[in-house]
Amino acid sequence: MIPRTPIEILHSVFGYSSFRGHQEAIIRKLLDGQDALVLMPTGGGKSLCYQIPAILRPGTAIVISPLIALMQDQVAALSEAGVRAAYLNSSLSFAEARAVEGAFLAGKYDLLYVAPERLMMPAFLDNLQRCKIALFAIDEAHCVSQWGHDFRPEYLKLDVLHERFPSVPRIALTATADEATKNDIKKRLHLQNASVFEAGFDRPNIQYRIVEKQSPKKQLLQFLQTEHPKDAGIVYCLSRKSVDETAAWLTQQGFHALPYHAGLTNDVRQKNQEYFLRNEGVIVVATIAFGMGIDKPNVRFVAHLDLPKSIEAYYQETGRAGRDGLPANAWMAYGLQDVIIQRQMLTTGNASPEQKRLEQRKLDAMLGLCETTLCRRQVLLKYFGDELNEACHNCDTCISPIDKWEGTKAAQMALSCVYRTRESFGFAHLVDVLLGNETEKVVRFFHHQLSVFGVGRDMKADIWRSVLRQLVAMGHLQVDMEAFGALKLTPKSVSVMKGEEVIHFRALRKPTRVTKVGKSSHAVRAQEMDNDANTLFEAMKELRLQLSRELSVPPYVIFHDRTLMEIAQNKPRSLEDFRGLYGVGEHKLSRYGAAFLKVVESHPF
Ligand code: ADP
Ligand code: ZN
Repeated sequence: MIPRTPIEILHSVFGYSSFRGHQEAIIRKLLDGQDALVLMPTGGGKSLCYQIPAILRPGTAIVISPLIALMQDQVAALSEAGVRAAYLNSSLSFAEARAVEGAFLAGKYDLLYVAPERLMMPAFLDNLQRCKIALFAIDEAHCVSQWGHDFRPEYLKLDVLHERFPSVPRIALTATADEATKNDIKKRLHLQNASVFEAGFDRPNIQYRIVEKQSPKKQLLQFLQTEHPKDAGIVYCLSRKSVDETAAWLTQQGFHALPYHAGLTNDVRQKNQEYFLRNEGVIVVATIAFGMGIDKPNVRFVAHLDLPKSIEAYYQETGRAGRDGLPANAWMAYGLQDVIIQRQMLTTGNASPEQKRLEQRKLDAMLGLCETTLCRRQVLLKYFGDELNEACHNCDTCISPIDKWEGTKAAQMALSCVYRTRESFGFAHLVDVLLGNETEKVVRFFHHQLSVFGVGRDMKADIWRSVLRQLVAMGHLQVDMEAFGALKLTPKSVSVMKGEEVIHFRALRKPTRVTKVGKSSHAVRAQEMDNDANTLFEAMKELRLQLSRELSVPPYVIFHDRTLMEIAQNKPRSLEDFRGLYGVGEHKLSRYGAAFLKVVESHPF
């Protein structure tokens, strides 16, 4: 019998036991022929929302996606699940594209993924009119908005769908939350009447940690060695040079690390990305150019060696971790230099003054996140207009609370030191003056004769550096890049100098505590599985990798880690036992069940 209801499809095709969040309601809407706008975080399960109606409704669903790599993966994953799907984009040869179009016209597909440029070709639109269309799904719908970071002009033309196919239901999906983008999507895609489904933006399985940058490479190494010795992950750096250096250095340390940045040829970038997707335990060291359309579900960590320029960017980049819902880490090293560099990039860029002010505010919010003593997740979600009532217990400030100290006096000393030295010097020199160090430069400028000379002797240099950094982050000081990074007072400084404002600083963490924060995802996994299960898990991964090479698809297209973990724990003995496991649909059961059972049998514990 052919399954006919959404839940039957969920069980038999996708191998999942129940719907998540709004999935079922969204599917119902589309089955009823209505439009939907879906805002759900990465990993929330957006694809099923249109894939199930695509299977159930007569005709072919057209999925518009800007990301070629993602299309290929989705089609591979659907084919593995026994769903008839194909894609049309620039990666196909002319003959291949013609074959796909022919099959499409003959009604052979449940889903056809197309790039927006392709969709807009008049001949293709005419073809659409000749076929039965089940629905239109517009993925990454925020690309239609100029507010977003991924604006794509082709997306603006998608309103043609509404005009030419008024009776075909449309669903627009995005992981971007803010109001401006949401309104833009509604307006430009003519979705004013669509039902809006909004899920909270929290990613509870991601642990957020921001550590004080001391020697970043060493800190990164320690983080990787203790928590992710065999895991796949992404390390973000600001410059191409530091990408290359970090990748080379990690390789020397025994990790499998590959660089990714705009300075590499297309070929090399493509190759490295493929390698990352198709193998286990690979680290990509990248500039922010990397990751758009990276759908690898088992990225176990995202590490930032440099500060992103906004919370949006930080959330998007860290969001690439843990799409499979298993524990993952978002780790960042942050320091004084980051503040200086980001401020510099802002002032020297050639954006309009209005744009600069906007970027300035975004950077301030990012700095606020770094310097907070509150729960990081609460701060993050609040920025996106989502409230989290309780602290999360899964970020560094929750796990090991940070001390605050009342530093009004220290702030006054620092500001007055800036004032007395005529707002012309950078961090290092100011710290020397505060500490009373008679350096050559101090003497040359007669700063040893100032009243502020040595007033800060009671505190160590690293505390003064953190005070100055936090004053910049708070906006009480600014870095003047045209004056070689000199610190200057701001209009906000006055109230502090006059004693009208109480200042609290974040205390430095003791270095030993930094590494002990939380349970690593690696540790969690090891804990969840006993030794036997772990051995079996590794054997399953081996088989999966081998199969994935034979079929030339990424390993996770065959089974997700979570499925392998369930196999390792439940040790199924028959296809019947195998059937109920996470992500095991009928098609995969008949294709791979026997091979995996054999491995279980060969491990008689
Ligand atoms: P998004 O596109 O929102 O980032 P995906 O559609 O890729 O998320 O889904 C994320 C992961 O969750 C995928 O591995 C998917 O197979 C899985 N998933 C989605 N819906 C369910 C469900 N109802 N039960 C179990 N797993 C699900
Ligand atoms: Zn928290």
